[in-house]
Amino acid sequence: MSEVAWTRCFQHGSTTCTIDLTEYYTNGAASGAWRDNIVKRVEEGMVRLETGLKNGGFKKGDYSIYSGTSGLALLYLRLSETLYTNNPTKRRQALDRALELITQPLNKLNGRRLTFLCGDGGVLALGAVLYTLCDNSAVARHCTQGLQTLSELALTDRLMSQELMYGCAGYLFALLFTKKYLPESIDSKLIARVATHIVAVGKEEAKCCSGATLLYTWHEKHYLGAAHGLAGILYTLLQSNTVSPAELTNTIAPSVNYLLSQRYPSNNLRSSLSSQLDQLVQWCHGSPGFVPLLTESHDQIPGGTYLQEAIRCATPIWQRGLLRKGHGLCHGTLGNAYAFLDMYQRTDDPTWLSKAVHFTEWSMSQRDVAKNYEKDMKLFDGLAGVIYLYCDMLEPKSAAFPGFQVPK
Ligand SMILES: [Zn+2]
Repeated sequence: MSEVAWTRCFQHGSTTCTIDLTEYYTNGAASGAWRDNIVKRVEEGMVRLETGLKNGGFKKGDYSIYSGTSGLALLYLRLSETLYTNNPTKRRQALDRALELITQPLNKLNGRRLTFLCGDGGVLALGAVLYTLCDNSAVARHCTQGLQTLSELALTDRLMSQELMYGCAGYLFALLFTKKYLPESIDSKLIARVATHIVAVGKEEAKCCSGATLLYTWHEKHYLGAAHGLAGILYTLLQSNTVSPAELTNTIAPSVNYLLSQRYPSNNLRSSLSSQLDQLVQWCHGSPGFVPLLTESHDQIPGGTYLQEAIRCATPIWQRGLLRKGHGLCHGTLGNAYAFLDMYQRTDDPTWLSKAVHFTEWSMSQRDVAKNYEKDMKLFDGLAGVIYLYCDMLEPKSAAFPGFQVPK
């Protein structure tokens, strides 16, 4: 294990990162003491999550993936794909537990919210995948039909936002997640229709603002980051693979370039157009949620210097160091580790993986902070998300930020 002066890293930033990765990974997989440590933390964490669940660690009636019990079901699915992928008994147990956890949410759908992270979309998507993996295709089909029916709301509700957490991009993600696991189950034309709708709304809203090709409002602000803003919407559109070459060149590329123009001098992304304070460097607001859009743009948009820009935008994430808001995925240190993993996947530069290892080791070293987990179990702001990242550190090349990056 490396010795890192965390407080220095936190207070003043550090441009150096020294880890001998051969002590951590062999052929792309965690190995030796590092793997043993991750496995121990994951298994201890799962016990605590189950205890927390019995003791009211999840808010009663919250069935969302973001903060409710469906997030725990998603974590069990991830466990079955990572730690337990080669252990048929434990893999089966994890999937059975995930299925148990998703049953109640499926009976509590409310038909109002439709996104993957905060609404029925995520519950139905996860239900479809889990029932298929557990050999109940009839219920799975019921879930995929229900998910696709939600498109009526997405495409017709004029008050519906377009962002990832509560809007159409979050619904689009639910379709993409389901299609990834069950390619035949989701109509590709529906995915294209939802993507086209999101672009059309963005063009209309951009008419009010010179320089922007697409713009979206959430709670009367033009947000720019992953959770509520343009970066999250553009990234989901690119992941849908439905954007025509002409639309890529004429609409998506100018919008990515517009976001690049909305950075602070530090290369951190503004949280909204009106934001003046270079303060938030976290997945939901700031560069950590912008980096995957830039690396995806590098892959899909001809020309441009998106990979170099991604490197520039990822740099302040390390320089600013650890976050005061804890370990969580949404606005905590381990959410930022995913930006490093994305950079590692796209560049093969092990320095980025070292940075993700640093953040993970920091998280593992914080026993005092971990006490809070007794009350804080959520996937996006608690122990479930921490364990999710630990699972992804087992094979960093296949890591994907849950509810934001389509699984690999
Ligand atoms: Zn957040």
